[in-house]
Amino acid sequence: MLPTLESLSAALGGLAGRRVLLRADFNVPLGDDGRIADDFRIKAALPTIGWLVAQGAEVVACSHLGRPEGKPDSRYSLAPVRARLGEFAPGVELLENLRFDAGETGNDDRLAQRLVDGCHGYVNDAFGASHRSHASIVGPPRYVPSAAGRLLAKEAEVLLGLRAKPKRPFVAVLGGAKVSDKLGVIDALLKTADEVLVGGGMCFTFLAALGHPVGGSLLQGDQIEACGRLLQSGAPIRLPSDITALAPGERVVQAGVELHPDWRGLDIGPGTAAEFGDLIATAGTVLWNGPMGLFEDPRFAAGTKAVAQALAASRAFTVVGGGDSAAAVRQFGLDREMDHVSTGGGASLELIEQGDLPGLRALRESAGTGGEDRDG
Ligand code: ADP
Ligand code: MG
Repeated sequence: MLPTLESLSAALGGLAGRRVLLRADFNVPLGDDGRIADDFRIKAALPTIGWLVAQGAEVVACSHLGRPEGKPDSRYSLAPVRARLGEFAPGVELLENLRFDAGETGNDDRLAQRLVDGCHGYVNDAFGASHRSHASIVGPPRYVPSAAGRLLAKEAEVLLGLRAKPKRPFVAVLGGAKVSDKLGVIDALLKTADEVLVGGGMCFTFLAALGHPVGGSLLQGDQIEACGRLLQSGAPIRLPSDITALAPGERVVQAGVELHPDWRGLDIGPGTAAEFGDLIATAGTVLWNGPMGLFEDPRFAAGTKAVAQALAASRAFTVVGGGDSAAAVRQFGLDREMDHVSTGGGASLELIEQGDLPGLRALRESAGTGGEDRDG
């Protein structure tokens, strides 16, 4: 059990006038002009902030943004986020980018102590950063009563529910660029999913393992063996039966799974999109991670869009995880049609894979909020 906001309030005898450190994930995408391109991560923290403020707490928020190298770097200032946050939640303080201090990624205990200095409690709502053993994630629960925010609690409940008791059939749809990023999660999903549908750039390493020529498509030669072993194990993995490819002269061609040496497979074909759509339509639970093709190019967005639409129309409990897949769903305007769109890319995969995260563990082990004696 993760300690809740309510248990934190109880541990502190109420939150009125209490100073609470909130670790949020305000790692928002910034446009070339340095402006916030998408503020969904700020909005996602508002239920927790709103609750804390309504209880009378004084909220000090902190976050990282991008990858500054352990020293102040104006390109990664949280100033634009502070301005936007001020519109939604006036009066909430926001510290400067945690990664301006090398102690954040180095998990320096002195940084954790500085962060909690003067604070009575700590709330982690930064799901997207909770797979990292960074100072602001694992440090504060050692010093002050701590709790999971609403977003973190929801993410943990939904994603752990996929491992524990998915409504069947449970269909996992996986895509994205690199198969090496996803083999761990495929392994974990094969223990619980009824079908694993594979598209995206990663399908070509599987197709190559079956001996199909994949032309100039994405291919990870050092993963062919691992993919071949998975296929031979009889695992319920479904691969595309047709591919949309780019041929010389910027020609878009439809092919089966045997690609000409000059062709690059950049999307699943319409036949595969329909097959995947049928399986999604009759599922009880669907987890989708990773685009089916190079969806940033409209010529190769059809497969990703078809899968997004199939999820939107399905009666299944639908979960989208992964930064780019979530972005695709928002781009198609279908995010509200999903039961859950995870705010964490790496974190959602790691939670499904491992069943736990360093940030969750730290909250459970935190003294004083009742989380420590109710494990699981
Ligand atoms: P997520 O962030 O959802 O986990 P990934 O980061 O694994 O997804 O992969 C997303 C990227 O994969 C996207 O930029 C997309 O264009 C790319 N991609 C998907 N399929 C292909 C393909 N067939 N060829 C090249 N790139 C692809
Ligand atoms: Mg990604």
